[in-house]
Amino acid sequence: MRIAIIGAGFSGLSSAWHLLQSADCEVTLFDPSGIGGGASGIAAGLLHPYVGEEGKRSLLAKEGIESTRELIAIAEKKLGKKVARQNGIVRHVLDDELKELFLSHAQKFGDVRQIEEKLFLIESGMTVDCPSYLEGLWQAVAARGGKLVLSEVEDLSSLQGFDHIIVAAGAGIAKFAELKSLRYSILKGQVLICRAPKAVELPENSSIGKGYVALPSDDRVCHIGSTYERGEKNPAPDQALAMSTLFPKIRQFFPAVEDLEVIGCKAAMRVIRSGHYFPIAAKIKEGLWVLTGMGSRGLLYHAFLGRLLSEAILTGDDSALSFLSNNKTVN
Ligand SMILES: Cc1cc2nc3c(=O)[nH]c(=O)nc-3n(C[C@H](O)[C@H](O)[C@H](O)COP(=O)(O)OP(=O)(O)OC[C@H]3O[C@@H](n4cnc5c(N)ncnc54)[C@H](O)[C@@H]3O)c2cc1C
Repeated sequence: MRIAIIGAGFSGLSSAWHLLQSADCEVTLFDPSGIGGGASGIAAGLLHPYVGEEGKRSLLAKEGIESTRELIAIAEKKLGKKVARQNGIVRHVLDDELKELFLSHAQKFGDVRQIEEKLFLIESGMTVDCPSYLEGLWQAVAARGGKLVLSEVEDLSSLQGFDHIIVAAGAGIAKFAELKSLRYSILKGQVLICRAPKAVELPENSSIGKGYVALPSDDRVCHIGSTYERGEKNPAPDQALAMSTLFPKIRQFFPAVEDLEVIGCKAAMRVIRSGHYFPIAAKIKEGLWVLTGMGSRGLLYHAFLGRLLSEAILTGDDSALSFLSNNKTVN
């Protein structure tokens, strides 16, 4: 079976890896920007179930985290080094309602622990060094025979020699007329890359309040994020805007942000499914599939949904995917 995957970010690589577990599959990824050239390569790396300011537990979070953990282990084995800090993530709760919610998470789910009056440790949380993770996963895909073609797919009809096409093109999906029935929006996001001078004490864990400080490695570099710029079409980073948006939020729970040295700013477009945060993983028609709409939960869902999508292609049974698309309240 010959399979073309458009896009080599989290979604495309996860699909490729799972398909390549079958000896019958030949997989070719197409991406003009190489591995992680879209949103995946600049993601801050936070992986946990309680995404979003409202702090609710995401659907199928356990399955999502377990699946990503498996892919992280594969990437780490390939590279021979750690690509994630699996030491939890600290959540600052800035009001009483949120505190009550996290107390109830602690009781119900067992992966949250109160450590101070307004501080909770999300023990299942981790921080992924996304460029390293993507590189490790790609090397694992390549070792199983996956190919990468460094070119843009202009039109799906150019992929006629393939039995199946998976569109995992992130914000690039807008290009394909075959996908025009999908409902989603595109939201620009920016992160600031900051270095902490010796005098500044960085938190031990990545921390979330309104905004976040992500610590993907031990090298005194952190990622401050993220902006959510609705309607912004220019994908280029705007460091001044990112600083004026993010610093006031971060200051509330990490005042030393003022002393960090900003050494870079990265921007990308997120795809957000309309009406619900759960991504779009679906069969569009015979031989055409889509995996997108990861929003801010790319790390949480790409591995799990890449596996389900691959199983649907390999078995010809897409009922699990349809069930998920049609049952937004599943948990
Ligand atoms: C600032 C920011 C911070 C974030 N932080 C986090 C975080 O901490 N944790 C988290 O879980 N998520 C985070 N996210 C979200 C996460 O980055 C996305 O959910 C995820 O990267 C989506 O992955 P993807 O593979 O679907 O898309 P992408 O990573 O965007 O990949 C799509 C790829 O398709 C390629 N492509 C597009 N069109 C074509 C075409 N026509 N032909 C060939 N190739 C094409 C692109 O070059 C790109 O490489 C963040 C996002 C942003 C913007």
